[in-house]
Amino acid sequence: MARVYFLLGGNLDDRERILSEAILKMKSEIGELVNCSSIYETEPWGFDHDLNFLNQVVVFDTRLLAEKVLDATQQIEKDLGRVRKKDQYSERTIDIDILFYEDQIISTDRLVVPHPRLQERLFALVPMVDVAPELIHPVEMKSIRELLVECPDEMEVKKFKH
Ligand code: AMP
Repeated sequence: MARVYFLLGGNLDDRERILSEAILKMKSEIGELVNCSSIYETEPWGFDHDLNFLNQVVVFDTRLLAEKVLDATQQIEKDLGRVRKKDQYSERTIDIDILFYEDQIISTDRLVVPHPRLQERLFALVPMVDVAPELIHPVEMKSIRELLVECPDEMEVKKFKH
């Protein structure tokens, strides 16, 4: 069994419903849901859009290898109607990022784990602190709590729902 930490995010459609639909699909495709953070609301990062994002970290135990987990999350993104645009940052129904896969360090064409921008983004670190404040980042060799204190991001991350 491998423990995997995911960041869910979306700013289109019924944002809360899409988050719960994603979690439902992840339960059937990926494994057992172990923990969920609160849901947070943040401004869009890196581009202007009227609708704020909802973000949530969810933790699963899975028998799938990391690449297979990515296959599953990409299929779920597709099923939930994400519109992929040329710009890297664009509005989307749902985005599912793999933050950690156990304490593995992975770097392939398709997959970089731990997620390379995790430590730069409050909208990932704040919900991570809910579920695993003492988890050690295997590259930075610091805890999530320490990474949050050091994070230079000034984006407002508001609690939306416990
Ligand atoms: P994005 O548009 O930000 O969701 O990026 C999707 C792309 O990032 C896909 O082509 C994935 O193969 C790639 N990717 C690399 N590392 C990760 C990761 N840790 N989690 C999710 N997608 C990843």
